[in-house]
Amino acid sequence: MEQLLALENEIKQLRKTLTEKEKEMEKLRKEIFINQTQISSGGQNNEIESMVKCGQLPKWAIERYSRQILLRDIGVAGQARICQARVLIVGAGGLGCPAAMYLAAAGVGEIGIIDYDVVELTNIHRQILHFEHDENTSKAESAAATLRSINSRIKVTPYNIQLDSKNALSIAANYDVILDCTDNVPTRYLLSDLSCLTKLPLISGSALKMEGQLTIYGYRSDTHAPQKGTTYRGPCYRCVFPSPPSPDAVGSCSTHGVAGPVPGVIGTLQAMEAIKCILDVPPRQLLVERMLIFDAEDMTARTVRLRKRNPMCAACSDTPTVTQLVDYEAYCMAPANDKKKQEIRLKTEQRKIEKEKRMTGQSYFGFRTQKDGDKNIWIQDVFKSERRLNPPCNSEFCAKSSTRYCKKLTTSERQKIFEDFWRLEWKEKKKYVRSLIDNVPVKRRRSSLKGITSRKGDSKMYHLIFNNDKVQDLELHILPESNRISAPEVSQLLKEKVVPYMVDVRADAEYQMCHIVGSNNWPIDRLSGENLDRLVRVVEDKDIVVFICRRGNDSQVVAKQVLDRLATSARHKVRDMVGGLHAWATHVDRAFPVY
Ligand SMILES: [Zn+2]
Ligand SMILES: [Zn+2]
Repeated sequence: MEQLLALENEIKQLRKTLTEKEKEMEKLRKEIFINQTQISSGGQNNEIESMVKCGQLPKWAIERYSRQILLRDIGVAGQARICQARVLIVGAGGLGCPAAMYLAAAGVGEIGIIDYDVVELTNIHRQILHFEHDENTSKAESAAATLRSINSRIKVTPYNIQLDSKNALSIAANYDVILDCTDNVPTRYLLSDLSCLTKLPLISGSALKMEGQLTIYGYRSDTHAPQKGTTYRGPCYRCVFPSPPSPDAVGSCSTHGVAGPVPGVIGTLQAMEAIKCILDVPPRQLLVERMLIFDAEDMTARTVRLRKRNPMCAACSDTPTVTQLVDYEAYCMAPANDKKKQEIRLKTEQRKIEKEKRMTGQSYFGFRTQKDGDKNIWIQDVFKSERRLNPPCNSEFCAKSSTRYCKKLTTSERQKIFEDFWRLEWKEKKKYVRSLIDNVPVKRRRSSLKGITSRKGDSKMYHLIFNNDKVQDLELHILPESNRISAPEVSQLLKEKVVPYMVDVRADAEYQMCHIVGSNNWPIDRLSGENLDRLVRVVEDKDIVVFICRRGNDSQVVAKQVLDRLATSARHKVRDMVGGLHAWATHVDRAFPVY
């Protein structure tokens, strides 16, 4: 036992060291890439500029980008444009990550990526530039590091700031295309106005739940104008949405959820449209005046016509009223970031941590209430000390009792039980406590009123199991041997066609995953009251009933509950399969999955 613990501790320690070393390696790798990028990005642009004139790219670029250069739509000239392009990506989230990845991989010369936020574990299912070890680090920095390791030949600039009316113009001045990969209305207006003021196309994506949308705002082209000397112009965001929606009408991924691949698709298509803008394809081939709507639920994509540019638009008309960037949070009456939500999230996180401490017997902070007007607010700042072993009980009653152990246990024995208990997981604790309680049916009693009998419910008998390794491993043994059956014996019964009724008490999802053919699912979570009565009636009708679960603990609990409710004459029907499906997999059916 001690040896086992020592080994477990050693493994834990080694794992910790491994994680630290991995982090260190990742950091070093990133630093090396940053250095390489600084050396190569300086050289790259000059190289290309000199070679492009004769219609050529440097050898490394031809090799590296050959699969897209082969396309008639791109070619060597197109690749040269891509290598010289500068793209600003606003938001390093679900849309920004895939978009930036493809643009970096395609060789876009300069990528700027803006995000004020830090990486959270809840982001990672869709924000694929960030890794687990990036948790709590800047999204912009984390994104930039990954982009550099994808392509060390390009320049990547992270902006770990919130884009606002004051900084937007000076940042945008360094770029040719803007990608709106944000998720809030104020930033959409800010970016649209920015696009109008800087005359840069804005490739705008959004994704929520199972649906994504994509279009280009503020598009303008002199080369694709209907007449020479004029400019082709698509609508801006304000042309389509002249006034902001009510703040309540806007959903967010943190409240409504989003399927990771949906922003993945939209962000990827944003990269495609950005590349096409860089290649200067005609507007009819772009999502200008059109919006793509992708629905992952029924796997459809359709494009809908958008309003044409409004000649009276406040932002993009010839006589605009919006001539500078304004306060968009005030304009939309909504915050442009999730900081308030984050505060709430932090509180939730704190609550979880304190609960964890409470459940493991450590000191923690509990709640108190405070009057705030006519409602109570909960404040979590009441210090509760760690659990300690209380002094032994000296009650006379306990000393006489045959079921109480107060006087019989030594201090060190009590200490051991105490420590073992707090070492258990919460669920195991529950099982442990359950295993200490027996339901004892109470016989019918005549009540004081003549002729009327009342039936009392079960009474509970508490006892203590000690110095039994089985209990510490949480292999319960709460059933008489006559009510137990081994997996091979069950298999034998099935072969002999004495088909027993099999009750599998695992959760529905587990049962769906794998079960013994012919078994019936009675999930333990739903086995109370009426459901339990129903099961008891089913058992009464059968000859033999086998109770099954994953490891053979839950099934015993259910078997015991049923047993306690059965008439003595019917009790022999109950059989609990020892060791559960794990035993079944080991001794009967090797093909049965052990999970
Ligand atoms: Zn407009
Ligand atoms: Zn006592």
